[in-house]
Amino acid sequence: MILTITMNPSIDISYPLETFKLDTVNRVKEVRKTAGGKGLNVTRILKQLDAEVIASGLIGGFLGEEIKKDLDQTRIAHDFLPISGETRNCIAILHEGQQTEILESGPVISEEEASAFLEHFGKLAAKADIISFSGSLPEGLPIDFYSQMLQVCQPKPVVLDCSGAALTAVLKEDVKPKLIKPNTEELAGLLGRSVLNDVEELKAVLSEPMFTGIEWIVVSMGGDGAFAKHFDKFYRVTIPKIEVVNPVGSGDATVAGLTAAIEAGLSDEAVLKQGNVLGMLNAQEATTGHVNLANYQILFDQINIEEI
Ligand code: ADP
Repeated sequence: MILTITMNPSIDISYPLETFKLDTVNRVKEVRKTAGGKGLNVTRILKQLDAEVIASGLIGGFLGEEIKKDLDQTRIAHDFLPISGETRNCIAILHEGQQTEILESGPVISEEEASAFLEHFGKLAAKADIISFSGSLPEGLPIDFYSQMLQVCQPKPVVLDCSGAALTAVLKEDVKPKLIKPNTEELAGLLGRSVLNDVEELKAVLSEPMFTGIEWIVVSMGGDGAFAKHFDKFYRVTIPKIEVVNPVGSGDATVAGLTAAIEAGLSDEAVLKQGNVLGMLNAQEATTGHVNLANYQILFDQINIEEI
């Protein structure tokens, strides 16, 4: 079983508008509302892959109930810890080819809720073969909360996809995730400088002491594919050109593909191909977290994995 963790889920609302007018009324015809947050995107992709998956994290209030309903409708198993705060709304206004976002910061988690979650998580983790942690931590949780979760679930393999201070905090601790998947921007954020898409530079960067002990590092590079390190092997992943509809959530789809492939014990080549195929399939669809698996094999066969 794969356990996915979303600590700060949301109801994602999209408002398409022909023109966005300030200081007056804007009427929206086609509102789309979905259960969001990076971990829930991962979960939806895993479900489409027919993986056995349970979604967990923190959920509260009326919008928390809506998220549960949304998951029930798609027959996704879930076991969230209820909290007293209200799960957030994230609004994207799509207008004149632009996207204006209004993101609520979400609930503030109390100390009691934090320790109750660690206990809840420990029980779920004991039943899981592999666990994914995705996205930001809500306010109130200490910045090393993912490290505390890693302690609780060890030695279960964890695929971690977060950025900024939460990721830096994990890299400082002794208990390591099995895999991290920074994109180029997140990698630059970790290093405090930009990184060239150059084999020798990427090899040097991923060999830096801050990454010691992490078995897999997959740097995703959007349309340029990916660069990966597994133990002491380095791989360049070259992908074909595709027609992109909406790349939002491609990184989450990649995480789902990598996680399912690792759980299945696939070869390095197959793990990397599956991760990239799912990222690409997500980019080819309008709906985040939705993939058309009929095109899986066609893309899989066009990806080139080169050990360098
Ligand atoms: P994130 O969403 O975390 O920023 P990326 O944008 O790197 O992650 O996307 C993850 C993967 O999805 C890429 O490694 C690639 O396989 C695929 N992908 C994303 N954007 C594109 C694109 N524009 N063209 C082709 N593949 C893409």
